Amino acid sequence: MKITFLGTGTSQGIPIIGSKHPVCLSEDSKDKRLRVSVLVEWDSYTYVVDCGPDFRQQMLRAGSEKIDGIIFTHEHSDHVLGFDDIRPFYFRQGDIPIYAHKRVLKALKKRFDYVFKTKNKYPGAPTVITNRIKNKPFNLRTLTVVPIKGKHHELQVFGFKFGDFAYLTDMKTVKDKEIDKIKNVKILVVNALRIEPHQSHFNLEEALNFIKKVNPETAYLTHISHLLGFHKEVEKSLPKNVFLAYDGLQINI
Ligand SMILES: [Zn+2]
Repeated sequence: MKITFLGTGTSQGIPIIGSKHPVCLSEDSKDKRLRVSVLVEWDSYTYVVDCGPDFRQQMLRAGSEKIDGIIFTHEHSDHVLGFDDIRPFYFRQGDIPIYAHKRVLKALKKRFDYVFKTKNKYPGAPTVITNRIKNKPFNLRTLTVVPIKGKHHELQVFGFKFGDFAYLTDMKTVKDKEIDKIKNVKILVVNALRIEPHQSHFNLEEALNFIKKVNPETAYLTHISHLLGFHKEVEKSLPKNVFLAYDGLQINI
């Protein structure tokens, strides 16, 4: 299985438009973060988790020619706003499968109503095949994916375990019985927004405590804000098996 980090930034990305914060002005390419998303590839299959506002740029950068589906964690803008840019894939491949909680499907239908129209549909609009995810394992081709439920402030969000790889973003609280699903996983990715606490995201300390509970072989932090600090400096302060993810990072599992 190959994982590609398409984006590792929080909702505004780094740099933030117009910001003079030193991290936003950093010339280190690892301090430049598009909105959060990962590509998960195995056998000949390619799935993407979330498609935020940078989706087009991310697909171009990754050189992706086809996708087998999009899996959504939740409906916030930084996770869905690239939905219209599935069109090149749709034109080449036909209807694109999407996987999401019923509430997320409803939100997508509201925002992108033209995609879901069945009558008088605009000719250039893409079509999708909707698959509803509940909090139980589901199959993607040759793999069984396990959803992990968490809370993003009050909002339910899903993380996902693909074999030895667990990807959780936008988490603030996760119950022990959900953590049990990913205990001792080989690779864990989890959100760590900044140093200071935040109402809907793990800060660094909470993310590190979460990692301790899960006890993965290796962990990567994502959904990072400029307020976490410079990539190089933050990484020096982390435990041995914990790293900051960065855009373009690839892991083979
Ligand atoms: Zn987010």
